[in-house]
Amino acid sequence: MSRQCTRCGVSYPAEVIERAFKLRGLYASRPRRSLATVCRPCEQTARDEKNARDRWPKKARDTRRRHAVRLKVSVEELARRGWDLQRMAHDAEFQYGNGCNYCGHRYQDMRHGLGDITLDIQDPERSPDYRTNTKWCCQTCNRKKGRLTPQQFEADQQVYDLWKRRLLNPLTFADGGGTPSLFCAAS
Ligand SMILES: [Zn+2]
Ligand SMILES: [Zn+2]
Repeated sequence: MSRQCTRCGVSYPAEVIERAFKLRGLYASRPRRSLATVCRPCEQTARDEKNARDRWPKKARDTRRRHAVRLKVSVEELARRGWDLQRMAHDAEFQYGNGCNYCGHRYQDMRHGLGDITLDIQDPERSPDYRTNTKWCCQTCNRKKGRLTPQQFEADQQVYDLWKRRLLNPLTFADGGGTPSLFCAAS
């Protein structure tokens, strides 16, 4: 006798039913045990979708909680300073798609998933206001910023900005001399 999943409608033949449906009430007495009405692939899909929906809200929650501990303040205090979870989740997701705020590298290339994006408190001397004193950036930049003086980090930013600008104007220094290589290539 086959058994049909109430969600996807697939009918599973008798020989795979025990693998297709979870057994409910495992610790109940035998007559009270029953097979789930939804198949395991459907249950797994629902879990995956829930995790995908929750990943940015979770990232925001974890980030705020960790910063609260580090700053020795309550999460409510951070909330009062603009650390709104919905806004944070939105910003983090947006920045993830747009690369690190500091070095400009793409998160997709870093390959550690959501662990690659972190929230930096730009100036630790100032009040940790979310809107004016934080930036989403990559883990590498955040760690580096912790080791460098503000002046050194600022200088690094200039270096990266200049390097990024080469993409807009790639020919200027390409030939190592004063003549734009565009003309050299033509001669
Ligand atoms: Zn199903
Ligand atoms: Zn970075």
